[in-house]
Amino acid sequence: MSPAGDAFETRAIHAGQEPDPATGAVVPPITLATTFAQDAVGKHRGYEYARSANPTRDALETCVASLENARHGLAFASGLAAEDALLRLLDPGDHVILPTDAYGGTFRLVARVHERHGLAWTAVDLRDRDALAAAWRDETRLVWIESPTNPALSIIDIEDVGRFAHAREGRVVVDNTFATPYLQQPLALGADASVHSSTKYLGGHSDVVGGFVAVDDAELADELRFLQNAMGAVPSPFDCYLVLRGVKTLAVRMDRHCANAREVVQVLREHDAVSRVLYPGLPEHPGHDVACRQMRDFGGMVSFVAARGEDAALEVVARTRLFTLAESLGAVESLIEHPARMTHASAVGSPLEVDRALVRLSVGIEAADDLVADLAQALDSVA
Ligand code: PLP
Repeated sequence: MSPAGDAFETRAIHAGQEPDPATGAVVPPITLATTFAQDAVGKHRGYEYARSANPTRDALETCVASLENARHGLAFASGLAAEDALLRLLDPGDHVILPTDAYGGTFRLVARVHERHGLAWTAVDLRDRDALAAAWRDETRLVWIESPTNPALSIIDIEDVGRFAHAREGRVVVDNTFATPYLQQPLALGADASVHSSTKYLGGHSDVVGGFVAVDDAELADELRFLQNAMGAVPSPFDCYLVLRGVKTLAVRMDRHCANAREVVQVLREHDAVSRVLYPGLPEHPGHDVACRQMRDFGGMVSFVAARGEDAALEVVARTRLFTLAESLGAVESLIEHPARMTHASAVGSPLEVDRALVRLSVGIEAADDLVADLAQALDSVA
C-alpha cells in the first residue's frame, strides 16, 4: 500500500499532502516565495525559481497524478494552457484529428492559433470508425478525444480509438474535464494523456482557473515539463492550494452531482417543452453501453433540446432562478447556459457548431427537489 492509502477518496486527501515536516501543519503551506536559497552554486533543495517548481504546485501535481493513476502530473494556469502544451508537442506539417463535438475553445486553439503555425486538422465524429479511418493521414500524430463531449454529451470509446491510433503510431489525448478521474481513468483505458480544465470539477467551487495534464510516459512528461517552464503558463501557489482543497471532496461532490443529474433528467424527459434529453445515463443514449464500461457513473452534466427552438431555449435560460445563467460548469452551484451563443460561440460556422435549441445544465449539489422545481417552472413557461 502506498503511504497515501489505496482508495481514491483517501488519496484525494493524503497524496502529496503529508504533514509539513517543519511545523506539522496538516494542510500544505502556500509557498509564495519566487526564489529559494541555494547552499552553493548549483546545490539546492529541489527548488530554485517558482516558475520551474514550487512546493504547493508539487503537492497538487502529486495528488492529481495519483487520482488519474498516472506516474506524472503537471499543473497549468488554465485548461487551455494545458491543452496548448500538449499541442506544442506537434511540429508544423503534423495533422491532428479533433472531435466534431468538443469545447469551443479547444477548436479555437487548434484552428485559430496552431493552424497558423502549420498544424493541420480534421474534425471527425469519433463514434464513427470509418470516418476516423478516412480522416487518417500519414502525418496524423494525435487524436483529441473529449468524453463525455461538451455540450452534446456524446460518449467516445476511448479504448477503441486508442487501439486504432496506436496501431498507426498516433497519440491519444482525452479531455477528462466532464468525467473527472473519479468517474473515468483515461490512461487505464489506453490514452497517452488526460487533460483537465481544473477550473471545473477538480476546483469545484467556481473560484479558481487552472489546468492539468496527467501522463505515464517519462519522456512525454519531460517534454511537457520543459514546455511548462519554457512557456511559463503556470498556476499561482494560491490557485494550486484552491484546486488541492477542491480535490479533497471530489468523490463526495461527484456522487451528489450524479444523483442530482438523474433527478433533473427525470423532469426533462417528462416535460413537453423538451424534445430530447442528452445524458449518457439514459439507456436509449447511443453511448450508454460504452459509458457503462468506461465510467463509474454518468456525471453531472445534462443537455436538452428545447422543443420550440432557439427562442424557447433562450426563454428557459432566462427564467431559472437557482440555475444561474453563466458559462463554466462543474462547481457546487447549478448553472444553465445556451452553448450556441455562449461557450461555443467561437465554433459558429465550423464543423463543431452546436444546435441552436440546445441548453446545457451543470447540475450542482443543492437539494435535488429545489433544482427540479426551478427547472419545472422555467420549462412550464415555454410549454
Ligand atoms: N475543456 C473543457 C471540456 C472545457 O469545458 C473547458 C472550459 O470550459 C476547457 C477545456 C478550457 O479550460 P479553461 O477555461 O480552464 O482554460
